[in-house]
Amino acid sequence: MKKTNINSLVRENIRDLKPYRSARDDFDSGILLDANENSFGAPFSDELELNRYPMPYQEQLRDQIAAFRGVNRENIFVGVGSDEAIDLLFRIFCRPGKDRIIINPPTYGMYKVSANINDVPVDEVLLTESFQLQPEKILAAVQPETKMIFICSPNNPTANSMSVTDIAKVLEEFDGIVVVDEAYIDFSRQGSLANNIAEFPNLVVLQTLSKSFGLAGIRLGIALANAEVISYMMKVKAPYNVNKLTSQKALEGFANLDHVKKNIESIMEERERVIGKLVSNARVEKVFPTDANFVMFRIPDAEDVYRKLADEGVIIRYRGNEPHCENCLRLTIGTAAENDRFFAALENIE
Ligand SMILES: *Cc1c(COP(=O)(O)O)cnc(C)c1O
Repeated sequence: MKKTNINSLVRENIRDLKPYRSARDDFDSGILLDANENSFGAPFSDELELNRYPMPYQEQLRDQIAAFRGVNRENIFVGVGSDEAIDLLFRIFCRPGKDRIIINPPTYGMYKVSANINDVPVDEVLLTESFQLQPEKILAAVQPETKMIFICSPNNPTANSMSVTDIAKVLEEFDGIVVVDEAYIDFSRQGSLANNIAEFPNLVVLQTLSKSFGLAGIRLGIALANAEVISYMMKVKAPYNVNKLTSQKALEGFANLDHVKKNIESIMEERERVIGKLVSNARVEKVFPTDANFVMFRIPDAEDVYRKLADEGVIIRYRGNEPHCENCLRLTIGTAAENDRFFAALENIE
């Protein structure tokens, strides 16, 4: 098991922070006249008691997620999308204007945006041409101020999973936080690193209900990590970050796991069909391997194709400006009917 002194990585002001104590920290039943809520209730029929603040620590939802992922409640943070978790990690570990992070482009854009918002310089170590990590180069890029390394697996926009051996090397040899973003893990042939949080105290795994659960609209993001990291996230988050409507729908998702699994299977079947049709399309030059609910492919004049598809009413994503992604488009796997519309539109444009 790796030894990491989490406390020594945390910003001093965060270590010393006295968190806001919400009314619900002390009492959550009785005659509640402590939080300036409106006892007369919501202005419509309301079973969720929306006139009352939500639970600050979301114990029930975290228990569900912990059971689903095979960890304990103390290892689970829930927030407003993965984006909240990413931002909190910056605020906990990176002194603005001083500390640094490493990202591995082409990758998810939010790491850099969040770094910029928090005034944290970003060092970039490109993925290889086959979109794998370069662990030696990552470790060589580490400076004394490097506090976090972001790894996205399966990676957005390339769709492939990173080698577990490479991720493990970074986890073992870097003495800061390694964030592994697993937004697409339920579509992957590879297992989750959530199983390794006990072994690596410096590992933070990000997951979300936005993709495999089909709940992007409720904004529920998850961080899985050792209890110490999670308790810092709990300390820094807004007191009532996850609202009652969100936690209610998230719990409904977990009560319908069969449906979640069925949708994942359908998406994975469609993925194979879409790959087959792309591979046999004469204009498509390359279809990159996918472990996610989308696929990246290369086609001549990709930006033009992207625009003409939009004219046909089919919106996909142009990724040709990313490193190693010249003339690449990213296509989300939709329903069979949606995917057929995409292929019909592709036939229509010259
Ligand atoms: C979609 C996606 C997310 C999800 O973000 P949410 O804020 O939870 O919706 C996170 N990371 C990556 C790489 C993504 O593509």
